[in-house]
Amino acid sequence: MGWAVIKQNSFSFLGGHPTLDFINTVVDQDKDRGCSSIAQWERFLEWVSASGMFTDVQIKAFHQIVSSAEQEQLLKVIHKLREKEYAVLSDIAMNGFQPNKPLLELESKIKEAIGRASLSAAPEGYQWQPDMAQKLWIEDAFLFSFEQLLRSQELKKLKECGRCSWLFLDKGRGRGRRWCDMSTCGNRAKLATFRNRAREEG
Ligand SMILES: [Zn+2]
Repeated sequence: MGWAVIKQNSFSFLGGHPTLDFINTVVDQDKDRGCSSIAQWERFLEWVSASGMFTDVQIKAFHQIVSSAEQEQLLKVIHKLREKEYAVLSDIAMNGFQPNKPLLELESKIKEAIGRASLSAAPEGYQWQPDMAQKLWIEDAFLFSFEQLLRSQELKKLKECGRCSWLFLDKGRGRGRRWCDMSTCGNRAKLATFRNRAREEG
């Protein structure tokens, strides 16, 4: 049984930030990002509840979206946003804090989202609260999490897995972490090295 099968049944939250876990909702074992684990609305709702990105009020509002046309449209918007966020952060993981083309488009989206939002008090301080009377509030909520990560000191620790496209904050010391997860990509990499060595020696 491949690990993709395991990951399809349970989400992983090893990114170190809700936005990274959002970007990691693909099960591809390589750099392709074609296989989404939040492609169905029910699966997406499961992820929303487990993600830590949303308030209880927001999670409740997600469950009130019952029209399948609206669900489908939202899934499209969310997937498109996810891939744009991936492009920005993958670039940062590779090149550091440089001018970042994909970020320009998201920057204007963030500005629009803040224009619709209000600041509300939260246990950690003040946070942008999307205007939930607006249809776009879900995208706005994702954008605020992304914006918070962009301004976070933690972003210096951003890395992309050496095998798949998952992103994570490397909080370790020393040589640093190369794989999203030792039990999946790390093991696969070890196995590949072992096979190559065996081939060379054999
Ligand atoms: Zn990986």
